[in-house]
This record gives sequence, structure tokens and C-alpha cells, in this order.
Amino acid sequence: MKVLLTGGAGYVGSHAGWVLARNGHDVWVFDDLSYGHRAAAPAGRLVEGNLMDGDLLVDVMKSKGIEAVMHFAAFAYVGESVTDPGKYYQNNVVGTLSLLDAMRTAGVDKIVFSSTCATYGVPEIVPITEQEKQAPINPYGYTKLVMERVMADYAHAYGLGYAALRYFNASGAASDGSIGEDHDPETHLIPLVLDVALGKRKEILIFGDDYPTPDGTCIRDYIHVEDLADAHILALEKITPGAGLHLNLGTGAGASVQEVIQACREVTGCDIAARVVDRRPGDPPMLVADASLARKTLGWEPKFVGIKPIVESAWGWHKAHPEGYGDRGK
Ligand code: UDP
Repeated sequence: MKVLLTGGAGYVGSHAGWVLARNGHDVWVFDDLSYGHRAAAPAGRLVEGNLMDGDLLVDVMKSKGIEAVMHFAAFAYVGESVTDPGKYYQNNVVGTLSLLDAMRTAGVDKIVFSSTCATYGVPEIVPITEQEKQAPINPYGYTKLVMERVMADYAHAYGLGYAALRYFNASGAASDGSIGEDHDPETHLIPLVLDVALGKRKEILIFGDDYPTPDGTCIRDYIHVEDLADAHILALEKITPGAGLHLNLGTGAGASVQEVIQACREVTGCDIAARVVDRRPGDPPMLVADASLARKTLGWEPKFVGIKPIVESAWGWHKAHPEGYGDRGK
């Protein structure tokens, strides 16, 4: 298929592009490089542009014969979404509306949308199924929930076919070592811990050890970015006009902050200094997916289960690219 990846120069988008291309799909990337990396997009396949440029989106979709969109372009810093919600609603909501309307104009009726477990807020029941109430506790989660609702309305009224994939904690890197995780600023646990192993940071701060979990630190469901990418491709094949899929993407196995740090020590062979500090506001104690619906609906099975293989994958990239893509400040 001819697929347009918005945000295809970002972390999850670039890995999806890599897996799509490996599976023989024709990939085009639309990215304004505000957070993405030129080197993460497939060579000669990047169109630089912003989601608000509807005319450019229509032109790209028509001229490249695009049949489906995977929409990764979004701001995703939870803390920043609290202090600057306007930035998030503009980009994640208004920008996505611009994309959906460009798709209608260009006659493209399939979209795979990056949603998030943040749409659940603090879940009542863990592992979390898709039946859990969606009650976000920050603007980032709301922007994604709003767009799930918009897509449902567009499906009903305009025949849009969509899959809203609710990611848990994306992690790891491409198995050929060509692309990996590089955020600026970096806020995610695994890359920050690996930065300590690389000597780029003195210590890792553990945000709270008084949570109601076995070791007192927060538990998350770390899902390998290639497994996420596989699910996107399978979802694309399952999308039907006028209907939506809502699927959790996680492994169903949680790891605590302490367990992640310990896995990093074992994988890197480094003493990684850690210090407990106050809780980070807005962190639910435990987010673990029940992803049985995705397994059943898509015939999908994550290949990386357990924190160690995921950390090994991430370490392969970080060790080889201590400065990430090396394009900071550009
Ligand atoms: N975390 C931490 N120290 C850090 C970064 C993250 O203790 O420097 C914790 C964070 O509180 C959460 C978990 O690690 O419980 C995963 O955080 P991350 O930001 O990677 O992903 P999130 O779950 O927030 O999407």
C-alpha cells in the first residue's frame, strides 16, 4: 500500500516506516521536524510540512497516490501539556482535524491513529481492558481522547475507517541498529537510565517509592517499538470503511522503575546510581495492558516480552549512538 506517515521522522513513526518498507509498502513521511529527525525518515521520502497546511497535505496525498495514513505527529510531553495546554490542543486536536479534512478532500479513507493509555487516567481495574472508563488526568490524554471521539463521528458520518491504537510505554530500537529513541528533551525512563550507564548523567532519579506496588515504585507495561509497528500494519489490513477499532497495545507484563534500573545494570554491566525523590505529579501507580483484544483482532503477538530484551535492544542503539542522531540544536 501507499502509506503516508505523519510524524514519520519521530520515534514510533520512524520505526513503523522502517517495518512498513521492509514489508514492501510504499512509505511517505510528512513531518515538520519540530521534534523528528531527518535521518530517521527513509531517504528521499520526507515531505517537510506542518499538519495545519491542509493544501500541502492534500497535494501530497493526491500526487503520491496515498491509500492510507498513519498519524504519529503529536506532542507527547505530559508535563508540558499541563503548563501549555494550548500548544497541545492546537497541534494534537486542531492539527489532526486539518489532517482528517485533507484526507476527505483527497479521498483517503483509512487512518491508523496513535492513541495512548493516558486516555484511561487512573484506571480502576488493572490489567486495563478497552472497556475501562476513559478519564484522562492531563491535557495530553484529553487531546487523544477527543480525537478518538472525532474519528468515531467521522466514521459514522463520512465513512472513515480507523484504528485507534492505545500505546502503553514504547521502548527499544530497530533490530538492525539503524534507528532508535532520541527525544529532546528526554524524559523517558529507559533512555535516561542508559544515559547514566554512558556517563552522560550522574544518577537516575526515581520518582517516588511509596506507591502501592510490591517495591513501592511505579509499574509500566514496556512494549517494543517494532511490536508496535507490527500492530500498525496488521491494523491497517483490518480497517473497514465507516468503522473503528480501539485496541490496547502492551505486553500484559509490567515492570517497576526499580526493575527497569536493575535490568539496565545487568544489560550494561554498569553500576547505575539511583536516588529516590518525590513523586512526579500525575503518575498513576500501575499501568499494564490487557491486550487480548489486539491479539485476537489482529492476530498480533509481541515478540519482546519481559524488560530485559527490551533494554538490550535500547542499549544497542544508545551505546552505538550516544548523541542520538547528533542533530541537537539544528
Ligand atoms: N520515571 C522515573 N525517573 C525518571 C523518569 C521516569 O522514576 O527520570 C518513572 C515515571 O515516574 C514512571 C516511569 O518511570 O513511573 C515511566 O516513565 P516514562 O516517563 O518513561 O513514561 P510514562 O509512563 O510517563 O509514559
